[in-house]
Amino acid sequence: MTGLFSKKKTPCSICKKEVSHTHKPKNSWNVEGPLCGNCYVDLMEKNFEKENDNKCVLCGETQTSFNLWKPKKEWEVKGWLCKACFDQKEKQDSDVKNFCCSCGGKIGFIVYSPKKEWDLKGCLCKNCWNRLTAT
Ligand SMILES: [Zn+2]
Ligand SMILES: [Zn+2]
Ligand SMILES: [Zn+2]
Repeated sequence: MTGLFSKKKTPCSICKKEVSHTHKPKNSWNVEGPLCGNCYVDLMEKNFEKENDNKCVLCGETQTSFNLWKPKKEWEVKGWLCKACFDQKEKQDSDVKNFCCSCGGKIGFIVYSPKKEWDLKGCLCKNCWNRLTAT
């Protein structure tokens, strides 16, 4: 009688009401287990409000969640960025890739990444990379 399993009702982890159709909570909600439709919507609204007073981690400006951008992994920024800060970061990011961190010159087509032991942040041009490799 496998049919019994599919009809089994699951209790909602918040209101304990048994429902046949449950919803999975989002990771950020800190809720374990399935939710009924009502509690799911409730939490969704609560968490939406919470996200609404998020701040940009760089300028501290309060933004609605629509205006917050997830920083790129390599920026090592924790939290959210407003559009302006995101754009600025992205520009800096491309500058880092365009200019040599050792001589400040513009890097050509081939960008060299410094070796770990050189303890340099950014990218290198061919000349500096060769110079540093030789020493
Ligand atoms: Zn519920
Ligand atoms: Zn900002
Ligand atoms: Zn250079």
